[in-house]
Amino acid sequence: MQRRDRIPHPQQPRPAPIPDGSVVQLNARATSLWRRGQAWYYADDLVGPVAGAALVRVYDFEGRACGLGFTSVTSKLALRACGTWREGPLPDRIEFFAARLLAAIERRAGQLGPEDGARLVHGEADDLPGLVIDRYGPVLVLQTTAPFVEASLDAIVPLLVDRLGAEAVVARNDVAVRKLEGLPQEVRLLHGKRIEQVVIVEDGLRHLVEPFTGHKTGFYLDQRPARALVRELAKGKRVLDLFSYQGGFSLSALKGGAQSALAIDQSERALQLAQQGAEQNGLTGLQTERANVFDFLRGLREGDRQFDLIVLDPPAFAKSKRELGGALRGYRDLNRQALRLLAPYGWLVTCSCSHHMSLPAFEDTARQSAAGLPFKVALHQRLGAGSDHPVWLSMPESEYLKTLLLRRMD
Ligand code: SAH
Repeated sequence: MQRRDRIPHPQQPRPAPIPDGSVVQLNARATSLWRRGQAWYYADDLVGPVAGAALVRVYDFEGRACGLGFTSVTSKLALRACGTWREGPLPDRIEFFAARLLAAIERRAGQLGPEDGARLVHGEADDLPGLVIDRYGPVLVLQTTAPFVEASLDAIVPLLVDRLGAEAVVARNDVAVRKLEGLPQEVRLLHGKRIEQVVIVEDGLRHLVEPFTGHKTGFYLDQRPARALVRELAKGKRVLDLFSYQGGFSLSALKGGAQSALAIDQSERALQLAQQGAEQNGLTGLQTERANVFDFLRGLREGDRQFDLIVLDPPAFAKSKRELGGALRGYRDLNRQALRLLAPYGWLVTCSCSHHMSLPAFEDTARQSAAGLPFKVALHQRLGAGSDHPVWLSMPESEYLKTLLLRRMD
């Protein structure tokens, strides 16, 4: 109640009383940001301090209730927006998470089959900031990066088990961003039995996923549209898969009738899984090579080898805005080297998963890579993550995965 007394403009209608007093108010500037759909707010965007990690009702500068948010005192992110809610009492945690999880599942209904891997919750885009949930068959893997979500796992996990019949729920909370919230780095079985490996089936292609040890939550689910594109283009092609991880692109290419696929990665385990994947799918023509991609490319002499289809999917080079300059050079050099390896009319599928690199900046980098080459390069298509990774129009930085389909035109 105390905090509501600070609401300015007493001539404005006062919000209805809220039983537990969990209220946060935006200042004038933040009010206009909220109207434009901003998801994150710092302490100086708010009138008065926040207390602890809680679900709160958010009021705008004029004292109007505008939605709900999660608070945090441990990082700079004092408030994360988590959608609107009907008038009346603030929901309890179970009511809130049940409604949001159900909505996220419904939003994806009919998009993906039961054997597919799928992102069920994509943070802010599902009004659940700080929560990611991926489904790999009977296993759910989640990642929590907001203190309120972390503190609510006791409510979330039973809901997931109940609604989705998960045999195992795993927390892959080994992401660096948790450090900013003072949350520990850990991988933990939250429910059920320890399942080390699962198979997901994407368009008839089997992929192996290791929930406890694989990258991210186990697999690069977000590249589904690019895998489909590669499969479509691959017939009869010699394919080079750079930064291949478990060969998601190589296997898709071979399934699409590629003549051969050469997967390059520095991780031995990833390449083993790529080979296992090829065997499981009855695919031939996969070659793997453990190497640093930069060394591998440097080692190829001009005119040495050519490929009809190259996939270039490096890890995020720019982990912060500060690193963007170096990252731009890295992307430019890699793309240039890849373009040089293309056979006439060859295709390059080039990706950037760096949040700090916008689509226009990435296109500009590709343009610089192509400048001065003895052939023209066409930009055929732009792709992003699949529809289970929705992007808010108001949050362009949530469009982290950018993929361009380029073609050598002679
Ligand atoms: N294309 C993959 C995802 C790539 S993730 C897919 O669709 O599944 C990036 C991969 O790059 C990781 O597997 C990591 O092991 C590898 N990697 C990172 N730096 C590397 C380097 N310098 N040389 C070779 N591989 C590298």
